[in-house]
Amino acid sequence: MNLFKSDYFDNMDLADIRDKVEANERLSFEDGVRLFQCPEPLAVGALAHRMRTRMHGDKAFYVVNRHVNYTNVCVNGCVFCAYQREEGQSGGFVLTREDVLAKLEAAPLPPREVHIVGGCHPRLGLAYFEDILSAVHERYPDAVLKCFTAVEIAHFAHLENISTREVLTRLKSAGLGMLPGGGAEIFAPKVREQLCPRKATADEWLAIHEQAHGLGLKTNGTMLFGHIETIEERVDHLVRLRESQDRSHGYTCFIPLPFLTENSRLAIDNPLTGLEELKTIAVCRLLLDNIPHIKAYWVMLGVKQAQAALKFGADDFDGTVVEEKIGHEAGADSQQGLSRSELEDMIRGCGCTPVERDGFFNEV
Ligand code: SF4
Repeated sequence: MNLFKSDYFDNMDLADIRDKVEANERLSFEDGVRLFQCPEPLAVGALAHRMRTRMHGDKAFYVVNRHVNYTNVCVNGCVFCAYQREEGQSGGFVLTREDVLAKLEAAPLPPREVHIVGGCHPRLGLAYFEDILSAVHERYPDAVLKCFTAVEIAHFAHLENISTREVLTRLKSAGLGMLPGGGAEIFAPKVREQLCPRKATADEWLAIHEQAHGLGLKTNGTMLFGHIETIEERVDHLVRLRESQDRSHGYTCFIPLPFLTENSRLAIDNPLTGLEELKTIAVCRLLLDNIPHIKAYWVMLGVKQAQAALKFGADDFDGTVVEEKIGHEAGADSQQGLSRSELEDMIRGCGCTPVERDGFFNEV
């Protein structure tokens, strides 16, 4: 049965949204709220799958990448964070340039994308990061260096007493190609005040990404969902990101991140269900009509849920990763890394065609 020609969406009170999706028309804030309120996640998923298929067919992208977390020492102390340590606290670490290179050398395959993020350390100056980037860029000149969230960029600028634009310019000169999307959490000030009052504000986060785009850098976006935020605050987050993309056109991929509760100081009453995760991924696809890719981040979702997400609007399966600390400290039960053949088998296993990409989403 063709759902789109039946009265299925009329019965869900989604006929007008179906018509907009079919006509490739932008959905409104109110449409986003209604999609979240729809009691049938499969209906929302079918709409998102329609859009994802129109954009990418049955392709599901993956990348041979390597994550490196250079420190877990951080001055921000976000209440949800399971990863952060105070300086001098047991379990805290800082990698040297040689440590970073050794981790990359030990990866089973030379990475096409290097993802480097960490906490906001109180004493690591910009020279440390320039040194690491230069060394990695020299060793892997063809890899895309996707490093440092907007929150870290704001922190470096604060430590050095220079502008974020100068930080971005210097890091780009050292080899930076792209910013990851972390630190966005939920843009609503009321939520940030409770979750992460010390880190960059939503306006700062968005401004840094738009500055990066102006300098020719690509970036990703994220949303951490399933904690204290309302549905309206999720939609507001997505609409603000969409508006940012309308202004500066540099977001390549969006990553919906479910909140994982383990080791977090943030207690919540109603943890996410698997279907809520999938519905949220679907709404992200539907609202973010100007961001090309939606990631099923298997590290946080788990590999089986990430497979399901490829049928709920996502088109990217991230990559080999090799080692990951942030999600695993929060209770992610996925493995540390996947091989190329495991990624391809998982993608084929849910009826999609695996396509290897580089960090900028060029097919390789
Ligand atoms: S979420 Fe990031 S900025 Fe916040 S405490 Fe953890 S490492 Fe620091």
